[in-house]
Amino acid sequence: MSVDKKVLQEFTLERDNELRFEVESKTEKVYLTLKSGTAEVFGTELVKAKTYEFTAGAKVAVFTWHGCVVEVKGKTDVIYTAKETPMVLYSNCHAALEVMRVEADRENKRGPIAMLVGPCDVGKSTVCRILLNYAVRMGRRPIYVDLDVGQGHISIPGTIGALMVERPAVIDEGFSQEAPLVYSFGQKSPQNNQTLFSILVQQLAITVKERLEVNKKTRASGVIINTCGWIKNAGYKQLISNAKAFEVDAIFVLDQERLYNELVRDMPNFVKIIFMAKSGGVVERSKSLRVEARDQRIREYFYGTPKNSLYPHSFDVKFSDVKIYKVGAPALPDSCLPLGMKADDHLTKLVPITPNAGILHHIMAVSFAENEDDIITSHVAGFVCVTNLDTERQMITLLSPQPKPLPNNILVMSDLQFMDTH
Ligand code: ADP
Repeated sequence: MSVDKKVLQEFTLERDNELRFEVESKTEKVYLTLKSGTAEVFGTELVKAKTYEFTAGAKVAVFTWHGCVVEVKGKTDVIYTAKETPMVLYSNCHAALEVMRVEADRENKRGPIAMLVGPCDVGKSTVCRILLNYAVRMGRRPIYVDLDVGQGHISIPGTIGALMVERPAVIDEGFSQEAPLVYSFGQKSPQNNQTLFSILVQQLAITVKERLEVNKKTRASGVIINTCGWIKNAGYKQLISNAKAFEVDAIFVLDQERLYNELVRDMPNFVKIIFMAKSGGVVERSKSLRVEARDQRIREYFYGTPKNSLYPHSFDVKFSDVKIYKVGAPALPDSCLPLGMKADDHLTKLVPITPNAGILHHIMAVSFAENEDDIITSHVAGFVCVTNLDTERQMITLLSPQPKPLPNNILVMSDLQFMDTH
């Protein structure tokens, strides 16, 4: 392959074909331009002649319903055209949801609440994005709920949240993040504290239902819920409890027939369970790639993306000006449990923390809670990171997207850490 060909390639895609590429190496950027025809990336239409930029880690599929010519500039790790895709199936699922929305609109009822489930790396988040994009392209205003604390598509990892989707995702950035509703779970996996996770899911479901009540357009548009890949034993029970909390009408099961059959067996008949094939393009991520993706997500929260830089603030706060808590205390042996206390009560116990070296580099959720009793179930204003601790001056230094002062003095420590090497 000549050097030129390596940096600039043109692809002619037949109808229903998909061009897939990955940008792996850290320093590379890849530019994509639609020359003619029509194409979309995960449900967002490409604008002809506009150039889109993809940075390290991007795994992209350019799909065309009617054929197109695209140009790709820059070094890709992998690039190929696929003729087999499940896009027709995904589009049929969208059409079925749309039928439910039309009926909901007509009868002023609630539109479909659909949940995506399946193992890790089968394209759950991508299918959510496609379904949401198709819905907004039809003029709908669905709510996107993300219960995948491992990646945190709405906010940062360790959170669950909801976002009203008003326009298609930006091709190289994702959905716009105006006023998301975010709850901090503070861990990378629901397994680490299932009791707390369930409480937060229920709280989020209540708030989402309230939002559906007050907005007719959103009510008819419904909700698309993304979940994490924890689907066995307690993870399966958690999926069932998520489905109950949100009163889902449909569950799309990606890739796993066993999970599909279990759900058909265990869910009430009025919940439709639909099996979906996984796209051959979905890329499996190694453990280290997952860690990297989490880190990048937090970095983007503070510093933005190469295209959309953010300038966070760094300021000192006196120990006495903030109240720091952690949710969850070490377990007590059964024999030591005080009267009336259940064995898993420690999981939701609020533990005050005196600033010490152990909080360094930790992410802290800035709670909206007005008092201690509300902390666990309150959603959060945003996140800060402890970048320095000075015990002599009794000060901590915080990295924050907003300038001083903090919107609230209640901070809840997350298990997630971030090294600010900027
Ligand atoms: P899950 O949510 O199940 O963990 P994702 O939707 O995050 O899976 O998909 C994993 C990765 O695969 C993502 O980086 C996504 O961009 C990529 N991906 C998904 N579908 C395709 C496709 N058709 N072609 C290329 N890459 C894809």
